[in-house]
Amino acid sequence: MSIRDNIAEVAGSIDMACRRADRSAADVQLVAVSKTWSADHIRPALEAGHRVFGENRVQEAQQKWPVLKDDFPDARLHLIGSLQSNKTADAVALFDVIETVDRPKLARAIASEQERQNRKVDCFIQVNTGEEPQKGGVAPNDAGPLVALCREEAGLNVVGLMCIPPADEEPAPHFAFLRKLAREMGLNALSMGMSADYPVAIEQGATHVRVGTAIFGQRR
Ligand SMILES: *Cc1c(COP(=O)(O)O)cnc(C)c1O
Repeated sequence: MSIRDNIAEVAGSIDMACRRADRSAADVQLVAVSKTWSADHIRPALEAGHRVFGENRVQEAQQKWPVLKDDFPDARLHLIGSLQSNKTADAVALFDVIETVDRPKLARAIASEQERQNRKVDCFIQVNTGEEPQKGGVAPNDAGPLVALCREEAGLNVVGLMCIPPADEEPAPHFAFLRKLAREMGLNALSMGMSADYPVAIEQGATHVRVGTAIFGQRR
């Protein structure tokens, strides 16, 4: 199967999940996760018309995306991996969306870089729904205060919440929990669901699904 075929197949599954959930497929954005893959491997997805991609490392994205964005200026790049504050300048310069805002220091760093570069990104707050110590994301109890700080003090454009459920747990309850949190905060976007569980995430309200393996193949 080609990357073009894989994208069509994933789009078909998104369609079916939307139909089951009585939602419009236009309300679900497929974020093609191209981490670890070279620019040459990513290019067919762009040539097939896909425009929204996710990368988890700033440095890796810097090595391949400037040339791809030259050829496809309307490509939009989401940062889906944890961001160290000292890489914020590079992240704000390259990415259109930062999905992993999870602490006040990072929110403030993004705010000051936005001002310095005169550039705005959209932000998701990453929530550690499984409260796993090794995982990024704000603890659920601290999510409300962080969203308030991002909006009021930092002036970030917070569009929604993002989560990565624990690998060894049923994802649906985590997705439902994230949706409830977002509702309480008046946030509309929900980035949740990967290759193994994006149909479930869509049934639980995902507006952004981050799919890598099902599009580009197994990562080494
Ligand atoms: C790698 C990654 C994905 C994509 O995972 P697949 O299982 O390959 O679809 C999604 N979200 C995040 C945060 C990731 O790091």
